[in-house]
Amino acid sequence: MSDTSADDGEEARSEPVAEPDYDGAFDAIVVGAGLAGSAAAVTMANDGLDVLMIERGRYPGAKNVFGGVLYTPTLRELVDVSSAPVERYVAEKRFSMLSETDETAVSLRPGEWHDPPHNDSYTVLRGEFDRWFAEQAVDAGAVLLTETTVTGLIRSDGGRIVGVETDRPNGDITADYVVLAEGGNSLVSEGADLKKPERAENVAVGVKEVLEFPERDGVIEDRFRLSDDGGVSYHYFGDGAVGDAVGGGFIYTNGDTISVGLAYSIADARGRQPDPEGTLNAFKSHPAVAPLVRDARTVEYGAKAIPEGGHESIPQLVHDGAAIVGDAAGLVLNNGVHLEGTNMAVESGYLAGEAIAEAARRDRIDEGALRSYPERLDESFVVQNLERYGWLMDRVEEDRDLIFEELPHALADAGAEYFRIDREPKERHAEEARDRILDTVGGWRGAAKLAYRYRKVIR
Ligand SMILES: Cc1cc2nc3c(=O)[nH]c(=O)nc-3n(C[C@H](O)[C@H](O)[C@H](O)COP(=O)(O)OP(=O)(O)OC[C@H]3O[C@@H](n4cnc5c(N)ncnc54)[C@H](O)[C@@H]3O)c2cc1C
Repeated sequence: MSDTSADDGEEARSEPVAEPDYDGAFDAIVVGAGLAGSAAAVTMANDGLDVLMIERGRYPGAKNVFGGVLYTPTLRELVDVSSAPVERYVAEKRFSMLSETDETAVSLRPGEWHDPPHNDSYTVLRGEFDRWFAEQAVDAGAVLLTETTVTGLIRSDGGRIVGVETDRPNGDITADYVVLAEGGNSLVSEGADLKKPERAENVAVGVKEVLEFPERDGVIEDRFRLSDDGGVSYHYFGDGAVGDAVGGGFIYTNGDTISVGLAYSIADARGRQPDPEGTLNAFKSHPAVAPLVRDARTVEYGAKAIPEGGHESIPQLVHDGAAIVGDAAGLVLNNGVHLEGTNMAVESGYLAGEAIAEAARRDRIDEGALRSYPERLDESFVVQNLERYGWLMDRVEEDRDLIFEELPHALADAGAEYFRIDREPKERHAEEARDRILDTVGGWRGAAKLAYRYRKVIR
């Protein structure tokens, strides 16, 4: 299984290459057959539009890197997910603070997550999942053109976007509507001045390895205490996870592999931090992580940028003739507790697809034709969640030393002290544990201030 390799020997499932007669044959063109692109394509094709999806990879997902857990509340409204290639449902979420040598963790295993739809959270490998999702769009009537890179947009004399330029010979293709679903590295949208490049402080670097165990049977189940198809989603913070950077590490269980990776501020990645690969190796060597990955062999490595500017950095979503969706529109929630982009990509693709289908039904190609997309997105969980957590990363940056370095040490020390077995009365250990934490946060006043600063996390 590969979600990063473009050369796994499998046949690309594509239609014949772009010929001049493709030009003008479609109502809508979707740039990128990732989650947002396929969601838009399936929505429009279901509404009877002629849709062309253009994907630069050998097949959809061939070039996609993510953690990851796929969140499916919108997806299962769009397609029959019973045959989707998912790895495991998430049965446990675990949050760990790591200092160089310690781990302090909280784990959640609600019984209801074992029951369908499993809290709409499944581990997937994108090389398989994206291909399957694009096939659903093809089954609905869309045409998929792979190994083709969109290199620019075509504008009419009046400035309306009326198609795309591709790297194929005679590769210009016109259509009434264009959906830009090209992901975070949105060169087409930026090249056409539809959005500005993301500021470095709003971009995280994501690195991920897929690891395989030589003796496969039962290793994952034993190490992660799993039964049936349940899996885990482990999240790690603190300097034991990502050194001096703001960010975190993760481990997700797949069917017979695990995904291990990091996501942290790219500004830190350029500064004092070792390179991403070195940081990932250090994370895998942490005493709390090493036993989980022992003897595993790396079968894939990938790195990718994650836009995490939140609500503030959402660009103008509709332009005359075009809509921007998914990561290309900066729709990712990454606040340390939640890393959610898949659900936002599918929701935005779906809403943009609906807006275009409605415009096509009314024969509207005017500038305001796609307005319902940003309007509905504003009311959806996507914008509401991005707005709700917009403040959090700024606060975390201000408190970075406390959160990523001092607290992981203090919590580990306090825990060790509280449970210390010796001949002293427990009261003394409890006091010392309490004092260790209070010294770190600035006493009771400091603790109260901190709780107040972060009150919106649980409000
Ligand atoms: C390390 C990491 C971990 C993550 N973990 C999670 C997680 O656990 N859960 C979660 O919900 N989200 C996670 N995310 C975020 C999530 O992966 C994204 O939000 C989601 O993939 C966005 O989907 P998309 O369709 O907008 O973009 P993408 O998935 O990036 O798809 C874009 C597609 O467009 C194609 N393309 C790009 N440019 C062109 C072009 N010019 N011409 C033709 N095709 C083009 C690409 O090949 C690709 O197939 C993670 C991201 C990273 C990097």
